[in-house]
Amino acid sequence: MDGPAAFLPQDGPSPRTAATTAEPRENPRCPSPEPPALTSADAPAPITAARITDPTAHRVLTGDRPTGPLHLGHYFGTRRNRVRLQSRGVEMFVLVADYQVITDRDLADRLAEHTENLVLDYLAAGLDPERATIFAHSAVPALNQLLLSFLSLVSVAELSRNPTVKDEIAHSSQAAVNGLMFTYPVHQAADILFCKADLVPVGQDQLPHLEVARTVARRFNERYPHADGSAVFPRPEALLSEAPMLLGTDGGKMSKSRGNAIPLGATEDETARIICGARTDTDRRIGYDPVRRPGVSGLVLLAALCQGRAPETIAEEVGDGGAAALKRTVTESVNEYFRPLRARRAELAADRGHLRQVLRDGAERANAVADATLAEVREVMGAV
Ligand code: ATP
Ligand code: MG
Repeated sequence: MDGPAAFLPQDGPSPRTAATTAEPRENPRCPSPEPPALTSADAPAPITAARITDPTAHRVLTGDRPTGPLHLGHYFGTRRNRVRLQSRGVEMFVLVADYQVITDRDLADRLAEHTENLVLDYLAAGLDPERATIFAHSAVPALNQLLLSFLSLVSVAELSRNPTVKDEIAHSSQAAVNGLMFTYPVHQAADILFCKADLVPVGQDQLPHLEVARTVARRFNERYPHADGSAVFPRPEALLSEAPMLLGTDGGKMSKSRGNAIPLGATEDETARIICGARTDTDRRIGYDPVRRPGVSGLVLLAALCQGRAPETIAEEVGDGGAAALKRTVTESVNEYFRPLRARRAELAADRGHLRQVLRDGAERANAVADATLAEVREVMGAV
């Protein structure tokens, strides 16, 4: 379904932002006994296809929270890269981050259903369970145990500065921020490092979390090297796509939990209805200007991604047709592009037992890897 691999375009967004690399301020009343602060050395570096010369030398970890159906932001943000990496022979671990559902809500609503549906979306999008290890992290105890030693490597001040955590807290429906939300990025470091992944296809919102994972790996390696001086963990790097932050129908980040998403598995009519309700603006002439016209530009980008053409060309073609013509173009493009995926999804949905078996097989493989990593961690820490 995908064209030739096109990883991070040369002019793609740089994952280094002031917010993710800013040095923390010292508290003058309390000189810091903390480990060294996050530095730009920990900012995730983009990977380009050219740098992946030997696919067998890499291991990829990506994941999603089972909070609802996957949407087009997921697909263009990370999913296509996952499938491209898989087709190049890169070993892949795909995590259903079920514990992380209860970071920003009191109950994990319809968890089993959402988990199975995530697997369904993965398979429909082209992930092959024979080649990719697909698992839920609640089924891998040793992965979660890594969190304990990793938590000792980051300061409370660093966690409280994390922009993604701040954003997720802002959108959370909870009255109080819970401890799991606060330590979410460190948990994510355990997700990535348990299998020693060195490549992580993510959306832009996850870059600050990846920076924490890189910091954790660096500090762990400095504090607990092997007897011969070698490092336990790789420094994972971000792989951004050509759509690192697809916008939803309200002009904000398309998210499962924000009611602004176009689900991968939506019907063609549902897709038309959702796109019809998308926020645009009053300027009849359609243009591509993500900063000044986020709503219109988000729609233009969506059509461009589906058609494999430049957003400027799409905008030019719609021209003075206004929002209605733009929405028609986007609806047709989305429905046409996703028709084969949706047909495959409907076929796979008929066999829920297969989805559960994929998770069981994945958990078995992931447990073997996590047990080995935990044993190594305990050894370098000098645990008895
Ligand atoms: P939730 O609202 O529950 O947080 P979400 O839609 O943000 O859900 P996640 O499971 O948090 O989805 O994210 C899974 C992966 O998809 C992450 O790598 C994230 O960066 C990426 N992603 C999520 N939304 C988008 C988007 N709109 N554009 C690009 N990538 C995205
Ligand atoms: Mg999210």
